[in-house]
Amino acid sequence: MKIIHDCLPDFNERPQNKIDTLVFHCSAHSAKNMIDVLRQKKLSTHYIVDLNGDIYQTVEDGKRAWHAGVSSWRGVQNINHTSIGIEISSPSLGQDLYDDKQIKSLLELSLMLIDKYKILPTNIVAHSDIAPTRKPDPGIAFPWKTLAEHGVGIWYNLEDARKVNSDNVAELLLKIGYDITDLAAAQYAFCRHFLPAVVKKEADIEELEKHPYPEDFVLPSDFLPVLQACCYSFTAES
Ligand SMILES: [Zn+2]
Repeated sequence: MKIIHDCLPDFNERPQNKIDTLVFHCSAHSAKNMIDVLRQKKLSTHYIVDLNGDIYQTVEDGKRAWHAGVSSWRGVQNINHTSIGIEISSPSLGQDLYDDKQIKSLLELSLMLIDKYKILPTNIVAHSDIAPTRKPDPGIAFPWKTLAEHGVGIWYNLEDARKVNSDNVAELLLKIGYDITDLAAAQYAFCRHFLPAVVKKEADIEELEKHPYPEDFVLPSDFLPVLQACCYSFTAES
């Protein structure tokens, strides 16, 4: 795997020498533009997968990059402390299919990192999963199911829904890992990841970034069984 090195200056030390989470992002810029934008905003990421599949590393794995912001997963706050951030170039902000070359590179990079740091499938997340009120990325086109089939992250088998007794939505979301302080936002983030067909495309990318979830969203009828099946997969893995 060829990795192009280009340093971003804004990062700091990890509070503990621990890496246990992968966070996927997307931005509507090519890698080169993204590096400029991140530099201007005093942000950073460990890796960028460009439109043509080229992989850039901009912060060393051992350092704490500034990609996730205020975040929470599985009861842990400030995910930047222990995570590796991977940005993917996507002009539609993850709403149109990613290029196969990008997914191939992302898969190779993710599998290398999972193996190197022994990252659990339950800790492979979207930026929208860990910041549901603030972030829509990496979007409805992100191929979670395909990635899970290749050993990156978790998907579900609908038949497992009946093995879960609870129908308490908040409790199930919490068990998977979501912060449920804003339950509507957490439900929407769940749909964006596991039921992307019910999430509407937003033509205006700036609008999508400003308002990552609609307040009038009506849960689809298959929401509960999918949530139960997911909860089964997530708790079986941990
Ligand atoms: Zn992001």
